[in-house]
Amino acid sequence: MAGKLIIGNWKMNTRAQSAQSLLDALLEQPACDQPWVGVAAPAVYLAALGARLQGRAIRLAAQDVSAFASDGAYTGEVSAAMLQDIGCAYVLVGHSERRQYFAESNPQLLAKMNNAMAAGLVPVLCVGETLEQREQGSYLAVIHQQLSILADIAAGEYLIAYEPVWAIGTGKVATLEQIAEIHSAIKTWCLQNAKPSASIRVLYGGSVKAENAESILMTDNVDGALVGGASLDAGSFRMICQAA
Ligand code: 13P
Repeated sequence: MAGKLIIGNWKMNTRAQSAQSLLDALLEQPACDQPWVGVAAPAVYLAALGARLQGRAIRLAAQDVSAFASDGAYTGEVSAAMLQDIGCAYVLVGHSERRQYFAESNPQLLAKMNNAMAAGLVPVLCVGETLEQREQGSYLAVIHQQLSILADIAAGEYLIAYEPVWAIGTGKVATLEQIAEIHSAIKTWCLQNAKPSASIRVLYGGSVKAENAESILMTDNVDGALVGGASLDAGSFRMICQAA
């Protein structure tokens, strides 16, 4: 089932040594050392992992990028140009944990998307509703509102990840019907409203595991997976990559 993209989001986990070991374990697996596999490691380890990935197929991804475009007095920030400089190919933008804990807003996320694309990175815009929004029936409106920045971005290549907040780290995976409905709605919205990307690809994220990866990846309009917890275990991540 080639053509699906699998990105592991390590979130705020690992240390220098365990990050290297995890990457080494992935590099030993032919199913993982592929250009359609990416690892989003903590920012401090990206440079070392990028050096290790020279000449290998796995792509490096960052978990966040600064909304500030140019070098300057922005203490603590990591720019898109810096991420590109150390070999990143992708960057996550607007993950629900960043929206929740850092109050990331659409204007900031728009800037992050534009900065990433200007630096030659492919940003992955993460969208998804909370349980309350799903129960209230407002989930499509919420997702459309999160997607709305795609009408204003500069043209370039980007990806979208649908990650229902209630399915992240909870073991509660969305049903295949729910995934198919939202992925189709996202693509329809993008075709009608978004600045064109090379293609419209939508990854699913939220409790993707070795056991459910294949059925999720075979669902209509699912172009890949964004994997959290299971990406920290080389064996589980390998099985997910095999399903791609
Ligand atoms: P889990 O796979 O741990 O549910 O996390 C999903 C996620 O947030 C990936 O970005």
